[in-house]
Amino acid sequence: MYRSHTCGELRSEHIDQTVKLAGWVQRTRNLGGMTFIDLRDRYGVTQLAFSMEQNADLCEKARKMGREFVIQIEGKVIERSSKNDNIPTGAVEISVYSLNVLSKSEVPPFTIEDDTDGGEELRMKYRYLDLRRNPLKNNMMLRHKLAIETRKYLDGQGFLEIETPYLIKSTPEGARDFVVPSRMHEGQFYALPQSPQTFKQLLMVSGYDKYFQIVRCFRDEDLRADRQPEFTQIDCEMTFVDREDVLNTFEGLTKSLFQNTIDVQLPDFKRMTYDDAMRLYGSDKPDLRFGMQFIELNDLSQNKGFKVFDSAELVVGICAKGCANYSRKDLDKLTDFVKRPQIGAKGMVWVKYNEDGSVKSAVDKFYSEEDLKTMLEKADAQPGDLLLILSGETNHTRKAMNELRLEMGNRLGLRDPKKFVPLWVVDFPLLEWDEETERYHAMHHPFTSPIDEDMEMITSAPEKVRANAYDMVINGVEIGGGSIRIHDNELQQKMFDALGFTKEEAQKQFGFLLDAFKYGAPPHGGIAFGFDRLAALAGGRDNIREFIAFPKNNAGRDLMIDSPSTVSKDQLEELHLKIEEKKEE
Ligand code: ASP
Repeated sequence: MYRSHTCGELRSEHIDQTVKLAGWVQRTRNLGGMTFIDLRDRYGVTQLAFSMEQNADLCEKARKMGREFVIQIEGKVIERSSKNDNIPTGAVEISVYSLNVLSKSEVPPFTIEDDTDGGEELRMKYRYLDLRRNPLKNNMMLRHKLAIETRKYLDGQGFLEIETPYLIKSTPEGARDFVVPSRMHEGQFYALPQSPQTFKQLLMVSGYDKYFQIVRCFRDEDLRADRQPEFTQIDCEMTFVDREDVLNTFEGLTKSLFQNTIDVQLPDFKRMTYDDAMRLYGSDKPDLRFGMQFIELNDLSQNKGFKVFDSAELVVGICAKGCANYSRKDLDKLTDFVKRPQIGAKGMVWVKYNEDGSVKSAVDKFYSEEDLKTMLEKADAQPGDLLLILSGETNHTRKAMNELRLEMGNRLGLRDPKKFVPLWVVDFPLLEWDEETERYHAMHHPFTSPIDEDMEMITSAPEKVRANAYDMVINGVEIGGGSIRIHDNELQQKMFDALGFTKEEAQKQFGFLLDAFKYGAPPHGGIAFGFDRLAALAGGRDNIREFIAFPKNNAGRDLMIDSPSTVSKDQLEELHLKIEEKKEE
């Protein structure tokens, strides 16, 4: 028996018991007559006490225990003279009789403490050490709990967990595929699934009615801070449902997850159309923890001689509560913020509604006090508030204003990570025009059904057609997305036409699905949640890497196992592949 208890288990009621513990040395403190070791395992930390007086040899031995040594001890639980209320085992310590070193450790490359001295790259190289730290351990535990609770809830609702293959062919989620060369079929390749989309639809054709899977997906995208080339989804599909059924089911799942993992009761989910989200927040994933809705000011600001506004397609403002006291410097900083290339506004106009009721603005020249006051009124500004205005091409300006709104939300402390405000964004456009390829792309994916009443526009005005698609958004983060699917062969074919696929291309890539639809395809719809991101949100963090045991870095590398890496000539040959020497430029 290695141990009788874990390092997180012992309390006052265990006093006088003889116990065996095993774990890692967190730290050793040599106080002359006494030596203390903090012994750590997954469950907690227990203090071990060694006394020179009682057993000098053992105490000397204890002093030699370095950080991260793995040891086993036997001893008696005794009351601690100075109790530590910060840890659950803080009332007791172990008076040790015997100590056995199970494994030595080199000095770790960074301290295994909650606040470590290691940079992220170093910690990723030694991920197995980083995972010993409490913050990561707690994240892994939260992730586990979310997965278990997901399974419990969906099982309770009659969902079946069914696995789908990883070696498949292209799925159109809009990213590049990772491909795997086939040894047995020269010149042919598998693709790793960007999602199990087509398989889950086939399971509906097979009559499985409710499917889910916690599943890895692979997308070869340029990585941003919150992206990973492989990531996990809670993937779901249901038969004989309309949009309301899907939204209600997964609102239920999400509420239950938050309740049972982090003890948060989510409010009922608001619904917002894509158009409203863009008009009022400039984003299809608005952060509704705070208001600061956009106020369109074209009618009040144009034709007064201010050319910048006159020539703009959109003049739009937000009201920053209590910010009329911003200094020139504060305002310059905000202007610099919106002018950054990533945001791209040309400038920013401000109107101060001073506490004394007077008005001050950068554009006083063009507008009377009355003009400015009508704008302030429309923005529902009170004395003490500040109106910030951007103008220009509509989409561009909305995007920039979204950034400014979020920045002001941060500055005013309105984005509390402990507060959660969920909503459904619905009625996305079905298609979006891609300037580069000069063709339409499915905004969600090509299996998404158009809204019935918009159907007739699919050939005449495709960009106006709304999709029966929805996203779940919490605190400005897209947590999940899905749609009611096309289940009709002809409509699916029309959709492929609209996307510029030839009949042959569509047949070659998705013939199996089109064929399946010939044999009694039921109406169906579903959703997929970004599981890593859900965990990060519930854990109150931005970075999904902290919720993945073995993540890749920003360049898509696993620094620990050093991958991707080259393979041997033999392997290449077997796979019928040749690497071309890079030509000197
Ligand atoms: N397959 C979709 C995705 O990965 C989700 C869905 O439509 O169910 O985004």
